[in-house]
Amino acid sequence: MVFDQFGYIFGPYLLHMKVLRQYPCLSLNTLGLRVDANFFVRVASIEELPGIRKFIRDRQVRYLILGGGSNVLFTGDYDGLILKVELRGIDEVVNYGPHVLIRVSAGEDWDGFVDHCVKRGWGGLENLSMIPGSVGAAPVQNIGAYGVEMKDCLECLEAYDMDQNRMITFSARECRFGYRDSIFKSTYGQRMLICSVTFRLRKEPMINISYGTIRQELERMQVKEPGIADVRKAVCTIRSSRLPDPLLLGNAGSFFKNPEVEEGVYNSLKSRFPAITAYPTERGTFKLAAGWLIEHCGWRGKRLGRAGVFDKQALVLVNYGGASASELLELAEKIKNDVKERFGVYLETEVNII
Ligand SMILES: Cc1cc2nc3c(=O)[nH]c(=O)nc-3n(C[C@H](O)[C@H](O)[C@H](O)COP(=O)(O)OP(=O)(O)OC[C@H]3O[C@@H](n4cnc5c(N)ncnc54)[C@H](O)[C@@H]3O)c2cc1C
Repeated sequence: MVFDQFGYIFGPYLLHMKVLRQYPCLSLNTLGLRVDANFFVRVASIEELPGIRKFIRDRQVRYLILGGGSNVLFTGDYDGLILKVELRGIDEVVNYGPHVLIRVSAGEDWDGFVDHCVKRGWGGLENLSMIPGSVGAAPVQNIGAYGVEMKDCLECLEAYDMDQNRMITFSARECRFGYRDSIFKSTYGQRMLICSVTFRLRKEPMINISYGTIRQELERMQVKEPGIADVRKAVCTIRSSRLPDPLLLGNAGSFFKNPEVEEGVYNSLKSRFPAITAYPTERGTFKLAAGWLIEHCGWRGKRLGRAGVFDKQALVLVNYGGASASELLELAEKIKNDVKERFGVYLETEVNII
């Protein structure tokens, strides 16, 4: 057994992996929660995965797959193994006709990848600029912003099945994407470790500026015929002005999902609250803007101890420094209760509670 400053390198796995003990997770979660993990390992190559799986099985420990930690809330120290996915690489698989297929390893930074594509004129992901986190986590909740979801450009992905010790390719249909949802979140939990994602992008991009805020920002920028680089710039400007930077103020983006309600419920809410913000869906239902509901319960900008509701966007809960998970969860619970009482609508948490 070999020691390093954190702990051990475990004998049988010396060849491929270094498991660290009592690992501080402050830099591993954007909410800025001070917790430790019992064990920690970096996954830098697919070949290491069988060894890591053996470690988990031999020791009977639970595990958590982690990318950038921008969508998790640790409720306390993690009594198990954290697998930090650091697989790297961007490959052009096919570049023929109007499309290009790009395979990206899961540990690549999402926004770095979007920038890579925009710089080469490959369109489709520019509306998803500046979303924190890794490429591998993007399919888990089918990230979305400004009228685009990641599923719109996904061709297929490869995952390592931690139960069966084999690689599996999932087509976009097999991923069963939904609103902030996929088969990886709803069915598999931690079973599939996404190793790479292949995207189908357009070489002659069709831009999507259906969202009013993007159009307004492009007008302000005095761009008459926008390209994907202009859209990316507009999205970055909007996001910088409305969302807190996790490096400055701990947060995990939207804390709640936008609740979906039947048309009848929406009509009745609309008659009581004419200014309510909502979007019709393809299913004939309506998605209510959770930020509007929270704001109209008076929560925007409010603080509860060291946790609070961001003053420019009520959907984002923030850690003003040193907040505990229970402070954040208590705040979330109060918000949920108020929204339920005032609008009769249940808010579902988007952030993964660990
Ligand atoms: C300021 C801010 C703004 C945000 N804006 C948006 C937004 O506009 N739209 C949006 O959809 N989200 C948004 N988010 C949420 C977050 O950025 C995304 O959910 C992102 O995809 C999370 O990536 P991550 O690598 O940090 O995932 P993590 O937080 O590390 O993990 C999230 C989940 O994915 C799982 N996971 C991670 N990597 C893998 C893998 N390789 N294989 C299998 N499972 C994995 C984890 O186990 C966990 O359950 C925002 C967050 C912040 C802080």
